[in-house]
Amino acid sequence: MKTKLLLTILVAGLLYSCNQKKVVTDKKQEQVKEEVIIELTEEISTNKLDKEYKDYTENDWKAVLTDDEFNVLRKKGTERPFTGSLLANKDEGVYVCAGCKTSLFLSETKFKSGTGWPSFYDFIEGNVENVKDESYGMSRIEVVCNTCKGHLGHVFEDGPAPTGLRYCINSVSLNFKAD
Ligand SMILES: [Zn+2]
Repeated sequence: MKTKLLLTILVAGLLYSCNQKKVVTDKKQEQVKEEVIIELTEEISTNKLDKEYKDYTENDWKAVLTDDEFNVLRKKGTERPFTGSLLANKDEGVYVCAGCKTSLFLSETKFKSGTGWPSFYDFIEGNVENVKDESYGMSRIEVVCNTCKGHLGHVFEDGPAPTGLRYCINSVSLNFKAD
């Protein structure tokens, strides 16, 4: 009888200590999660003015962007093909918005399209928005940054697997952050 009681106490003690360990692990995981969230927030909070992007005036954008960035991001301009600094970039990393630094495309989705503009077959979920564009007598889908609504380029349906899409993006709309 005594042995049974001792055994029960032992098992209970063991279970308790296991449980404690799990609590510690959970806490650690939570901490990691928090750190990741803070990192992501820092990444997108490079807003230089004390107002939301939607309230930026043209002059505000002119103050924080270069002339080329302003013409493409805010005026929907297109850089000349084969001139972009990121066209031939093959390094591993993340392509972020030149206007607000939001992460937009991953290097593993970049491919050589031969068009003269950086091309990707996919974007980072939630950070890029597709908008109907009927300008210049064409029906196209414009691609904009979901955070600052800056113009990035267009998307076409002649890309490679797995999506079959080609995000044709101006180099000037992007900054590159190596891994
Ligand atoms: Zn942006």
